[in-house]
Formats: sequence, structure tokens, C-alpha cells
Amino acid sequence: MFMPTRREDPADAEIASHKLLIRAGFIRQIARGVYTLLPLGLRSVKKIETIVREEMDAAGAQELLMPAIQPAELWKETNRWNEYGAELMRFQDRKQSDFCLGPTHEEVITEILRNDVTSYKQLPINLYQIQSKFRDEIRPRFGLMRGREFIMKDAYSFDVDVESATKSYKIMYAAYEKIFDRFGFDYRAVEADSGNIGGSQSHEFQVLAETGEDEIVSCKGCDYAANVEKAAIRVSQEEMDASIKFLEMSEVETPKKKTIDEVSAFLERDATDFVKTLIYVAGDQFVAVLVRGDHNANELKLRSLLKESGLDVTEFRMANDVEVGKMTKAPVGFAGPVNLQMPIYADLSVACMKNFVVGANKKDTHLTQVNHGRDFEVSKFVDLREAKAGDECGKCGGEFESFRGIEVGHIFYLGTKYSEAMKATVQDQNGKSCALEMGCYGIGITRILAAVAEQNHDDKGIMWPSAIAPFQVMVQPLQMKSDEVIAESERVYSALKAAGVDVLIDDRDKGAGAKFKDFELIGIPLRVTIGARGLKEGMIEYKKRSGGDLEMIPVGDIVERVISDLKVAVN
Ligand code: ATP
Ligand code: MG
Repeated sequence: MFMPTRREDPADAEIASHKLLIRAGFIRQIARGVYTLLPLGLRSVKKIETIVREEMDAAGAQELLMPAIQPAELWKETNRWNEYGAELMRFQDRKQSDFCLGPTHEEVITEILRNDVTSYKQLPINLYQIQSKFRDEIRPRFGLMRGREFIMKDAYSFDVDVESATKSYKIMYAAYEKIFDRFGFDYRAVEADSGNIGGSQSHEFQVLAETGEDEIVSCKGCDYAANVEKAAIRVSQEEMDASIKFLEMSEVETPKKKTIDEVSAFLERDATDFVKTLIYVAGDQFVAVLVRGDHNANELKLRSLLKESGLDVTEFRMANDVEVGKMTKAPVGFAGPVNLQMPIYADLSVACMKNFVVGANKKDTHLTQVNHGRDFEVSKFVDLREAKAGDECGKCGGEFESFRGIEVGHIFYLGTKYSEAMKATVQDQNGKSCALEMGCYGIGITRILAAVAEQNHDDKGIMWPSAIAPFQVMVQPLQMKSDEVIAESERVYSALKAAGVDVLIDDRDKGAGAKFKDFELIGIPLRVTIGARGLKEGMIEYKKRSGGDLEMIPVGDIVERVISDLKVAVN
């Protein structure tokens, strides 16, 4: 068995699952965000795939396998050759034709369907594949969590009308719940933004974990839960308090105080008295966004606002330090709306603020007692911020609480975005030609391996649920020189194997300490430890990785006990 375990944490790993998957010999990095699955890692990934396949098949989807290599022509039909940006891994063949390595397969699957499906009678169809995907992520990190090459299950549904497509979406939603239940995840399904895939409805399946990259809010009063990017906040349209007088604007020195925390401590004013000015680039245009000092701007809400206002958002990003310096004539940290030469959009919560603090567009300086309408003009007040704990739920007005999550699955109702662009039509019941209604459904197979490790570990190593563990049982002979120990270990090993149990025998010539450490690090659910002393009394040591007592089991009962604990059907 090639299971190269390590005692030391890798220097570049920040989170437990990344450290442990390397140390336990599941994965090795070959380039930034590009990993080999070692034998242990591959075994677990195959088990994850099997569970996903079983539930997809049960939900009526059919497996196929599309190529990873995709011609640019297809992506040009939907304009995503331009829109997808630098994440798309592009290359040319020897004839200088453009291709990409698929980050997702909407175009390819639509091409397949438009050629062979012509009538509503052939629908609904749901096709899926499990395959490597390629995305040149800006920040590949956390091991398998955010790779540049990773394994995904992607499914695509095709229906003749909205009603039937909505049903397909619901069937996938239910299948996802079954899948994530089988992994034993503590997770939430939340409303999500559809990002650059497009479409009208979408849900993410978020595994709850402190180290998750996503933040989600859920309402204490109703069943609404959403990614903070998407969450609708109820903003009570407060009037400005007329009893508060406009004070005279004044300049204050704030040497080297750049962040809201630093300036608010220095001026002894609450963060809620501040207005942050953030500068973005959309195409060739600069825009400023104002949010209250304790709030965060929501780039997705901003991006769609700018798109609606007719700006080119193909390139949309925060301005860099040089650009901020040029536009504000001050170093980063001192931007403010007064005399700023660009359109200014402000979050709704800024509308009722009076006499607030902003950057002065001057080094080491802020302005106090600033008021919009008097000192500067706002182009538009809109909901531009991220939801956070304590906000009012957009659905019922209840209070939001927040969690961090790892997105393991994402489903989208696409509508006709791709079928219209690519002219994928069928004849409906009335003989009329109509564009296919589509949905797409992703699951991050390799990300799940990391997410399970993130949710199931202790300071000694991983604790795999037996459905995903690379092996379910480890048989540990303690004295490799004792014929009796070896013989009994091999008997137990063979009996378990014959019963269909995934069993590994640690017959390395190593001490008990090293064997226990590896067992704990790798995270195999059960160990059967056979030692000379126990055998004298006809007993074998038995222990669960997840805890519980060390038990002494009679030699004749051990196989049955393991099998009943694993609930493996003996055939
Ligand atoms: P994220 O917001 O994390 O970048 P995404 O919205 O881009 O995810 P989708 O396009 O919906 O992801 O992909 C489907 C699934 O594939 C995701 O839910 C996630 O589990 C997985 N996935 C996406 N990007 C990566 C990646 N870089 N590495 C590993 N898994 C990924
Ligand atoms: Mg992404």
C-alpha cells in the first residue's frame, strides 16, 4: 500500500482538511491548485462518486461523458468566450484554432441536444457526467477546496416548458438533499446568485464550517436562508431625523489612520458614523460606492446595478492603488465623496445619515459633519450591501443569523439563455417551435472530500464516515515476528474481505505506536488490533476511530461484530 503519511503540517496549508489530506497521504500538489489523488484519496473519491451516481440515476438522470476539450466556436455562440474572462483556460491547436479546457459544459451539452432532439416527445431529458474541470482561479487555495483542476459532477436538464422544467429543478433539489444526507454533512440549502452562468433561480448547498469561504444568513423567524451575496435585506426607509441639524463640515488630521477601526478609535466616533468610499472600475469608467462604516459593499448587487445603468461590466473590479491615487489624489484609505469626479452610488442605509465622517481625498485627512445633498450629490440610493447577522430578513422582517459555509453543490434554473443563443429548439404539443427550458446542477466531488475532512477531524487526524473512508477497517498485527499473531490477523483480514468489507492490514514491521498514529491520522473508522498478550486469553482489541471505549472481543466474535457495526450485507 502506497500511503505516505507525514508527521509535519505542510507550510502552505492554512486549514485542517488541507493539512490532514496531505499528511494522511491522500493528495499531493504538482502545481498551484493542481493535485494528484494518491491511492487513499482516489478510493474515497470513488466512493463519493458512487453515492452521487446512485442518487442521480435514481432521480432519472443518465450518465454520459463529454470531452474536456471544447472548441471556441461554441463559446462564441453564447458570447461566453468573451464574458468568462481569465478563468477560462484557453489554448490553440497546431492549426491555431482556439479551444478551452471545459470549466463547465452548458455549450457542449446544448450542441448535443440541438442536433438530436426535435420534439417535445423526447423530453424531459437529464444528462450528467463526472469529470475533471479546469478553471484558472485567481486564488487557488485550501487544497482541494479551490483547485484549478478538480472533479465535478455536472448535470443538465431539458424540458419543453417552464412547468416541466420547474419539476426537473425540484427533482434535482431533492436528489441533492439525499446525496448530502448520505455524506453525513451538517449543511444548509440557501438561495444564491446565478453568477456568470445566468438564469433566474438558484440554490447552493453549503456545508457549515468556520473555514468556509462563503457567508450565509438564515432568518430566525422564517425558513429563508441565502448567501449574503444574494440575501434580500429589509431596509426600513427611515426618514432623515429632522431634529438633527446640519453641522458645518470640517477637516481633521488623521495621521496614518486609514481603516475605519483606526479612524473611529482616533476620532472617538462609532463606525456607524462613518461612510466608506469604495472605487470600482467598470469597463473604462470609474464609479464610487458609499456604504456605512460597519457595512460591506456587495459586488454582485453593484455589478447588476451598473449593468442595468448601461455600463460595460465585462471588466468589473475594484480600482487598484495606482488608480485610486490618480482619481482621489490621495493614498488608499483617504477616499471620500466630496469633490470626487465620478458617478456616486450609495447604499440605502446612507440615505438617512447626517453629519458623517468620510475621507478627504487628501493624505492623512478626513472630513467630519459631511452631508449628502449639501456637500456632494449621490447618483442613486440602492440596496448595495451584504447582508449580515442582525439585519432584517427581506422576506418576513425577522432577524438574520450568519454562518460560514463551503459550497459543495449549486443548482441553477437557466431558462432559455443557452438554448436561445444556440438555437436549440423543439416542436411543442401544438407543433410550435420553442427554445428548450434548461437547468444545470453541479456538485464538487473533490471539494466534498475536503469538506468531509473539514467537518470530521480532531487533533490526531481525520474521522471518515464509513461510507467515504478509503478503508472501513484496519487490522493491526502488533508482533510481526509472532506466527500466531500473523496467522490470526490474516484470518480476520480474509474473513472481513470475503464478507465485502473494505479492510486493510497494517503488516508493516513497525511499532504499535506508529501503527496507531497512522490509523488515527488516516481516519479509518474501525481498528482490530491483534497482539500476542490478548491472544493468550483468546481476545482481540477493538476500537472506533470516532471515540468510544477500547473493547476486548473474543476471537470467535470479532468478524461478526465488525460486520454488524458496519451494517454490511453478507452475501
Ligand atoms: P465558487 O463560488 O466556490 O467559485 P462556483 O459558483 O464557481 O463556486 P459552480 O460553477 O456552481 O461553482 O460549480 C459547481 C460546484 O463545483 C461548486 O458548487 C463547487 O462544489 C465545485 N467547484 C467550483 N469551483 C471549484 C474549484 N475551483 N475547486 C474545487 N471545486 C470547485
Ligand atoms: Mg467559481
